[in-house]
Amino acid sequence: MNSDKIAVVALGGNAITRKGVADTIANQFSHTRESLSAIIPLVKDGYHLAIAHGNGPQVGNAIFRVELARGKAPILPLGICVADTEGGMGYMIEQSLQNRLHREKIRRRVLTIVTQVIVGRDDPSVNNPTKFIGQFYTKEEALKFRTDRDWVVKPDGDRGWRRVVPSPKPLSIVEAESIKALVHQGHIVIAAGGGGIPVYIEDDGTYEGMDAVIDKDRASAVLAREIGASLLVILTDVERVALHYGKPEQQSLDTVTVSIARDYLAQGHFPAGSMGPKIEAAINFIEGGGRQVLISSIDKAAGAIAGKTGTRIVPD
Ligand code: ADP
Ligand code: MG
Repeated sequence: MNSDKIAVVALGGNAITRKGVADTIANQFSHTRESLSAIIPLVKDGYHLAIAHGNGPQVGNAIFRVELARGKAPILPLGICVADTEGGMGYMIEQSLQNRLHREKIRRRVLTIVTQVIVGRDDPSVNNPTKFIGQFYTKEEALKFRTDRDWVVKPDGDRGWRRVVPSPKPLSIVEAESIKALVHQGHIVIAAGGGGIPVYIEDDGTYEGMDAVIDKDRASAVLAREIGASLLVILTDVERVALHYGKPEQQSLDTVTVSIARDYLAQGHFPAGSMGPKIEAAINFIEGGGRQVLISSIDKAAGAIAGKTGTRIVPD
Protein backbone atom coordinates (compact mmCIF):
# COMPACT_ATOMS: atom_id res chain seq x y z
CA MET A 1 0.00 0.00 0.00
CA ASN A 2 1.24 3.40 -1.03
CA SER A 3 1.29 5.63 2.08
CA ASP A 4 0.23 8.55 -0.16
CA LYS A 5 -3.27 7.22 0.28
CA ILE A 6 -3.38 6.52 4.00
CA ALA A 7 -5.18 8.99 6.24
CA VAL A 8 -6.34 9.37 9.80
CA VAL A 9 -9.55 11.34 10.32
CA ALA A 10 -10.06 12.75 13.83
CA LEU A 11 -13.72 13.56 14.47
CA GLY A 12 -14.42 16.38 16.93
CA GLY A 13 -17.14 16.44 19.53
CA ASN A 14 -19.73 17.98 17.21
CA ALA A 15 -19.53 14.96 14.86
CA ILE A 16 -21.63 13.02 17.37
CA THR A 17 -23.12 15.50 19.85
CA ARG A 18 -24.28 19.04 19.08
CA LYS A 19 -24.46 21.96 21.45
CA GLY A 20 -28.06 22.61 22.44
CA VAL A 21 -29.31 19.23 21.16
CA ALA A 22 -30.09 16.53 23.77
CA ASP A 23 -27.38 13.84 23.67
CA THR A 24 -29.78 10.90 23.48
CA ILE A 25 -28.43 7.85 21.68
CA ALA A 26 -30.96 8.39 18.88
CA ASN A 27 -29.59 11.91 18.33
CA GLN A 28 -25.99 10.70 18.56
CA PHE A 29 -26.70 8.09 15.86
CA SER A 30 -28.37 10.69 13.70
CA HIS A 31 -25.44 13.16 13.99
CA THR A 32 -22.98 10.33 13.36
CA ARG A 33 -24.80 9.42 10.12
CA GLU A 34 -24.68 13.05 8.98
CA SER A 35 -20.99 13.32 9.83
CA LEU A 36 -20.12 10.40 7.57
CA SER A 37 -20.56 12.72 4.59
CA ALA A 38 -17.17 14.06 5.66
CA ILE A 39 -15.55 10.62 5.40
CA ILE A 40 -17.15 9.17 2.28
CA PRO A 41 -15.24 11.49 -0.12
CA LEU A 42 -11.93 10.12 1.22
CA VAL A 43 -13.16 6.55 0.82
CA LYS A 44 -14.29 7.26 -2.75
CA ASP A 45 -10.95 8.89 -3.43
CA GLY A 46 -9.30 5.55 -2.58
CA TYR A 47 -7.91 6.46 0.83
CA HIS A 48 -7.24 3.77 3.38
CA LEU A 49 -8.45 5.13 6.70
CA ALA A 50 -8.39 5.05 10.44
CA ILE A 51 -10.96 7.15 12.27
CA ALA A 52 -10.40 8.61 15.73
CA HIS A 53 -13.02 10.53 17.70
CA GLY A 54 -13.57 12.57 20.85
CA ASN A 55 -15.67 11.32 23.79
CA GLY A 56 -16.05 14.36 26.09
CA PRO A 57 -19.84 14.31 26.63
CA GLN A 58 -20.00 10.50 26.60
CA VAL A 59 -17.28 9.95 29.18
CA GLY A 60 -18.83 12.80 31.22
CA ASN A 61 -22.12 10.87 31.23
CA ALA A 62 -20.34 7.62 32.09
CA ILE A 63 -18.72 9.26 35.13
CA PHE A 64 -22.07 10.76 36.10
CA ARG A 65 -23.68 7.29 36.05
CA VAL A 66 -20.88 5.96 38.24
CA GLU A 67 -21.56 8.73 40.77
CA LEU A 68 -25.33 8.12 40.71
CA ALA A 69 -24.77 4.42 41.30
CA ARG A 70 -22.26 4.90 44.13
CA GLY A 71 -22.94 2.33 46.86
CA LYS A 72 -25.18 0.26 44.54
CA ALA A 73 -22.92 -0.81 41.68
CA PRO A 74 -19.13 -1.06 41.61
CA ILE A 75 -17.11 2.07 40.92
CA LEU A 76 -15.60 2.15 37.43
CA PRO A 77 -12.13 3.64 37.13
CA LEU A 78 -11.62 6.26 34.43
CA GLY A 79 -9.79 3.83 32.14
CA ILE A 80 -12.85 1.56 32.09
CA CYS A 81 -15.14 4.53 31.36
CA VAL A 82 -12.91 5.47 28.40
CA ALA A 83 -12.82 1.83 27.22
CA ASP A 84 -16.62 1.64 27.48
CA THR A 85 -17.06 4.79 25.38
CA GLU A 86 -14.54 3.52 22.81
CA GLY A 87 -16.67 0.42 22.45
CA GLY A 88 -20.09 2.10 22.50
CA MET A 89 -19.15 5.00 20.26
CA GLY A 90 -17.10 2.71 18.04
CA TYR A 91 -20.18 0.56 17.54
CA MET A 92 -22.23 3.63 16.63
CA ILE A 93 -19.71 4.92 14.07
CA GLU A 94 -18.93 1.42 12.78
CA GLN A 95 -22.52 0.40 12.10
CA SER A 96 -23.46 3.82 10.66
CA LEU A 97 -20.50 3.61 8.28
CA GLN A 98 -21.22 -0.02 7.35
CA ASN A 99 -24.80 0.92 6.46
CA ARG A 100 -23.70 3.96 4.45
CA LEU A 101 -21.10 1.94 2.53
CA HIS A 102 -23.75 -0.73 1.86
CA ARG A 103 -26.10 1.88 0.39
CA GLU A 104 -23.29 3.38 -1.67
CA LYS A 105 -22.32 -0.13 -2.87
CA ILE A 106 -18.76 0.33 -1.61
CA ARG A 107 -17.18 -2.91 -0.42
CA ARG A 108 -14.97 -1.96 2.53
CA ARG A 109 -14.92 -3.54 5.97
CA VAL A 110 -15.20 -1.42 9.11
CA LEU A 111 -14.11 -2.41 12.60
CA THR A 112 -13.43 -0.84 15.99
CA ILE A 113 -10.31 -1.43 18.05
CA VAL A 114 -10.42 -0.63 21.75
CA THR A 115 -7.11 1.20 21.89
CA GLN A 116 -4.56 1.56 24.70
CA VAL A 117 -2.13 4.44 24.47
CA ILE A 118 1.22 4.39 26.23
CA VAL A 119 2.05 7.41 28.35
CA GLY A 120 5.00 8.20 30.61
CA ARG A 121 4.54 6.96 34.15
CA ASP A 122 6.23 10.18 35.29
CA ASP A 123 4.60 12.51 32.76
CA PRO A 124 4.62 16.04 34.29
CA SER A 125 0.80 16.10 34.30
CA VAL A 126 0.74 13.21 36.83
CA ASN A 127 1.98 15.54 39.57
CA ASN A 128 0.11 18.53 38.21
CA PRO A 129 -3.25 17.40 36.84
CA THR A 130 -5.27 20.10 35.05
CA LYS A 131 -7.97 18.32 33.03
CA PHE A 132 -11.40 18.90 34.59
CA ILE A 133 -13.77 15.93 34.50
CA GLY A 134 -17.24 15.15 35.82
CA GLN A 135 -19.68 17.22 37.80
CA PHE A 136 -19.34 20.48 39.64
CA TYR A 137 -19.31 20.35 43.43
CA THR A 138 -19.31 22.88 46.24
CA LYS A 139 -15.93 23.58 47.81
CA GLU A 140 -16.95 21.63 50.96
CA GLU A 141 -18.00 18.54 48.94
CA ALA A 142 -14.86 18.74 46.81
CA LEU A 143 -12.56 18.93 49.82
CA LYS A 144 -14.34 15.94 51.38
CA PHE A 145 -13.78 13.91 48.18
CA ARG A 146 -10.13 14.93 48.26
CA THR A 147 -9.86 13.09 51.57
CA ASP A 148 -12.41 10.28 51.12
CA ARG A 149 -11.74 9.41 47.46
CA ASP A 150 -8.19 10.61 47.02
CA TRP A 151 -9.31 12.94 44.22
CA VAL A 152 -7.38 16.00 43.15
CA VAL A 153 -9.96 18.81 43.05
CA LYS A 154 -9.72 22.41 41.85
CA PRO A 155 -12.08 25.32 41.28
CA ASP A 156 -13.25 25.47 37.64
CA GLY A 157 -13.89 29.16 36.97
CA ASP A 158 -16.65 30.46 39.21
CA ARG A 159 -19.04 27.57 38.54
CA GLY A 160 -17.74 25.39 41.39
CA TRP A 161 -15.14 22.75 42.11
CA ARG A 162 -14.38 19.68 40.01
CA ARG A 163 -12.12 16.71 39.94
CA VAL A 164 -8.95 17.13 37.86
CA VAL A 165 -7.00 14.29 36.30
CA PRO A 166 -3.70 14.13 34.40
CA SER A 167 -3.73 14.50 30.62
CA PRO A 168 -0.39 12.88 29.80
CA LYS A 169 1.32 13.12 26.44
CA PRO A 170 0.61 10.06 24.25
CA LEU A 171 3.84 8.31 23.29
CA SER A 172 2.76 5.25 21.36
CA ILE A 173 -0.30 3.13 20.49
CA VAL A 174 -0.24 -0.43 21.88
CA GLU A 175 -2.30 -1.83 18.98
CA ALA A 176 -0.55 0.24 16.26
CA GLU A 177 0.91 -2.70 14.32
CA SER A 178 -2.48 -4.44 14.09
CA ILE A 179 -4.28 -1.23 13.14
CA LYS A 180 -1.63 -0.55 10.51
CA ALA A 181 -1.98 -4.02 8.99
CA LEU A 182 -5.77 -3.72 8.82
CA VAL A 183 -5.67 -0.21 7.34
CA HIS A 184 -3.07 -1.21 4.77
CA GLN A 185 -5.39 -4.08 3.74
CA GLY A 186 -8.14 -1.51 3.12
CA HIS A 187 -10.23 -2.00 6.23
CA ILE A 188 -11.53 1.15 7.88
CA VAL A 189 -10.47 1.07 11.53
CA ILE A 190 -12.03 3.14 14.30
CA ALA A 191 -9.27 3.58 16.89
CA ALA A 192 -7.96 5.80 19.69
CA GLY A 193 -11.52 6.91 20.56
CA GLY A 194 -11.52 9.59 23.23
CA GLY A 195 -7.72 9.70 22.91
CA GLY A 196 -7.44 6.05 23.96
CA ILE A 197 -7.02 4.38 27.34
CA PRO A 198 -3.89 5.68 29.07
CA VAL A 199 -1.50 2.93 30.15
CA TYR A 200 2.08 3.01 31.34
CA ILE A 201 4.74 0.32 31.21
CA GLU A 202 5.75 -1.31 34.49
CA ASP A 203 9.37 -2.23 35.23
CA ASP A 204 8.67 -5.83 34.15
CA GLY A 205 7.30 -4.66 30.78
CA THR A 206 3.61 -5.19 31.56
CA TYR A 207 0.91 -2.55 30.98
CA GLU A 208 -0.96 -0.83 33.80
CA GLY A 209 -3.88 1.60 33.44
CA MET A 210 -3.61 5.18 34.66
CA ASP A 211 -6.47 7.30 36.02
CA ALA A 212 -6.10 9.96 33.35
CA VAL A 213 -7.40 11.01 29.95
CA ILE A 214 -5.53 11.66 26.72
CA ASP A 215 -6.29 14.47 24.30
CA LYS A 216 -7.80 12.96 21.16
CA ASP A 217 -6.00 15.32 18.76
CA ARG A 218 -2.61 14.45 20.25
CA ALA A 219 -3.44 10.72 20.17
CA SER A 220 -4.62 11.00 16.55
CA ALA A 221 -1.25 12.45 15.52
CA VAL A 222 0.57 9.52 17.18
CA LEU A 223 -1.80 7.05 15.51
CA ALA A 224 -1.28 8.73 12.12
CA ARG A 225 2.51 8.58 12.50
CA GLU A 226 2.54 4.96 13.67
CA ILE A 227 0.35 3.61 10.86
CA GLY A 228 2.37 5.48 8.24
CA ALA A 229 -0.37 7.91 7.18
CA SER A 230 0.50 10.80 4.87
CA LEU A 231 -2.60 12.82 5.75
CA LEU A 232 -4.21 13.75 9.07
CA VAL A 233 -7.67 15.31 8.79
CA ILE A 234 -8.93 17.03 11.95
CA LEU A 235 -12.64 17.75 11.70
CA THR A 236 -14.18 20.15 14.19
CA ASP A 237 -16.76 22.94 14.10
CA VAL A 238 -14.77 25.71 12.39
CA GLU A 239 -14.18 25.81 8.64
CA ARG A 240 -10.70 27.29 9.03
CA VAL A 241 -8.16 28.01 11.72
CA ALA A 242 -7.79 31.74 12.32
CA LEU A 243 -5.38 34.27 13.76
CA HIS A 244 -6.95 36.66 16.30
CA TYR A 245 -9.86 34.21 16.53
CA GLY A 246 -13.11 35.86 17.63
CA LYS A 247 -11.67 39.38 17.34
CA PRO A 248 -12.51 42.03 14.73
CA GLU A 249 -9.12 41.52 13.04
CA GLN A 250 -9.70 37.73 12.73
CA GLN A 251 -7.88 36.30 9.73
CA SER A 252 -8.49 32.81 8.32
CA LEU A 253 -5.52 30.65 7.45
CA ASP A 254 -5.30 28.76 4.16
CA THR A 255 -1.94 26.95 3.99
CA VAL A 256 0.78 27.39 6.61
CA THR A 257 4.14 25.70 6.96
CA VAL A 258 4.96 23.89 10.16
CA SER A 259 7.46 26.59 11.25
CA ILE A 260 4.91 29.31 10.81
CA ALA A 261 2.30 27.24 12.68
CA ARG A 262 4.80 26.93 15.51
CA ASP A 263 5.32 30.71 15.57
CA TYR A 264 1.58 31.39 15.66
CA LEU A 265 1.18 28.83 18.47
CA ALA A 266 3.94 30.55 20.47
CA GLN A 267 2.22 33.90 19.85
CA GLY A 268 -0.86 32.56 21.64
CA HIS A 269 -3.33 32.31 18.76
CA PHE A 270 -4.49 28.80 19.69
CA PRO A 271 -5.87 28.21 23.22
CA ALA A 272 -4.92 25.11 25.21
CA GLY A 273 -8.44 23.68 25.58
CA SER A 274 -9.49 23.84 21.92
CA MET A 275 -7.36 24.78 18.89
CA GLY A 276 -4.01 24.46 20.71
CA PRO A 277 -3.93 20.63 20.82
CA LYS A 278 -4.94 20.45 17.13
CA ILE A 279 -2.05 22.68 16.07
CA GLU A 280 0.36 20.82 18.37
CA ALA A 281 -0.85 17.54 16.87
CA ALA A 282 -0.38 18.96 13.38
CA ILE A 283 3.18 20.07 14.17
CA ASN A 284 4.08 16.69 15.71
CA PHE A 285 2.65 14.75 12.78
CA ILE A 286 4.43 16.85 10.13
CA GLU A 287 7.71 16.80 12.07
CA GLY A 288 7.37 13.01 12.34
CA GLY A 289 7.24 12.70 8.54
CA GLY A 290 3.57 13.39 7.77
CA ARG A 291 2.83 15.11 4.46
CA GLN A 292 -0.22 17.21 5.27
CA VAL A 293 -2.69 18.11 8.01
CA LEU A 294 -6.10 19.44 7.06
CA ILE A 295 -8.28 21.18 9.66
CA SER A 296 -11.87 22.04 8.77
CA SER A 297 -15.47 21.54 9.84
CA ILE A 298 -17.53 18.40 9.36
CA ASP A 299 -19.97 20.14 7.04
CA LYS A 300 -17.25 21.72 4.88
CA ALA A 301 -15.07 18.60 4.83
CA ALA A 302 -15.90 17.50 1.29
CA GLY A 303 -14.88 20.92 -0.08
CA ALA A 304 -11.83 20.98 2.16
CA ILE A 305 -10.68 17.56 0.92
CA ALA A 306 -11.18 18.83 -2.63
CA GLY A 307 -8.85 21.74 -1.81
CA LYS A 308 -11.50 24.48 -1.75
CA THR A 309 -11.44 25.38 1.93
CA GLY A 310 -9.97 24.37 5.28
CA THR A 311 -6.55 25.11 6.76
CA ARG A 312 -3.55 23.05 5.65
CA ILE A 313 -0.37 22.59 7.64
CA VAL A 314 2.48 21.38 5.47
CA PRO A 315 6.24 20.76 5.80
CA ASP A 316 8.54 23.78 5.34
P1 ADP B 1 -13.29 19.44 19.11
O1 ADP B 1 -14.37 18.71 19.82
O2 ADP B 1 -13.44 19.34 17.62
O3 ADP B 1 -11.90 19.09 19.58
P2 ADP B 1 -12.85 22.04 20.36
O4 ADP B 1 -13.94 22.87 20.92
O5 ADP B 1 -11.90 21.40 21.28
O6 ADP B 1 -13.56 20.98 19.40
O7 ADP B 1 -12.00 22.94 19.33
C1 ADP B 1 -12.63 23.67 18.28
C2 ADP B 1 -12.88 25.11 18.71
O8 ADP B 1 -11.65 25.84 18.76
C3 ADP B 1 -13.71 25.94 17.76
O9 ADP B 1 -15.08 25.78 18.00
C4 ADP B 1 -13.27 27.38 18.06
O10 ADP B 1 -14.22 28.02 18.87
C5 ADP B 1 -12.01 27.21 18.88
N1 ADP B 1 -10.87 28.02 18.48
C6 ADP B 1 -10.00 28.56 19.37
N2 ADP B 1 -9.03 29.23 18.75
C7 ADP B 1 -9.26 29.13 17.43
C8 ADP B 1 -8.57 29.63 16.29
N3 ADP B 1 -7.46 30.32 16.40
N4 ADP B 1 -9.10 29.35 15.07
C9 ADP B 1 -10.21 28.62 14.98
N5 ADP B 1 -10.91 28.12 16.02
C10 ADP B 1 -10.44 28.36 17.24
MG1 MG C 1 -11.17 19.47 21.59
